[in-house]
Amino acid sequence: MPEEPIDELERHRAELYVRLAETGDFRPGSVNETWRRCGKPNCACAQPDHPGHGPRYLWTRSAGGKTRSRQLAAAELDKVRREIANYRQFVAVTEQIMQVNEAICEARPAAGTQAPPGPGAGGRKRHPRGLNVKLRPRTQGDFPGVPRRWPRRRGCPS
Ligand SMILES: [Zn+2]
Repeated sequence: MPEEPIDELERHRAELYVRLAETGDFRPGSVNETWRRCGKPNCACAQPDHPGHGPRYLWTRSAGGKTRSRQLAAAELDKVRREIANYRQFVAVTEQIMQVNEAICEARPAAGTQAPPGPGAGGRKRHPRGLNVKLRPRTQGDFPGVPRRWPRRRGCPS
């Protein structure tokens, strides 16, 4: 990511907050079209070339680890699709807001220190005050409860 001056970053962040506030109603999930056979042997849908009854439109989303669905009335369809599109936009803008905030945090000097070297200063940014802080990549092992390695191979016969 190219380094931008902090005022540029702040302007970008302000624009993103405006976009966030402009997000309309939104909801997560997806709309799926389903066709099904009713199972009655004399029904037309029992024929092999019949697609089944439908379409039914289901709004499906996961909540609390469970997948939940609700059948939509035809009149709701466009509205729900719009709301789902708004949700995707909300998520995308939120992601950008996180990124720009992270960049601002990195660019803003701590109180009483000089501004970090701008673009062209060469090399990595020095830590303010020259503290001897070792940066290390974030790994899964840094999070409690998350195994360092996926234990798939252990006890697996193959
Ligand atoms: Zn049928």
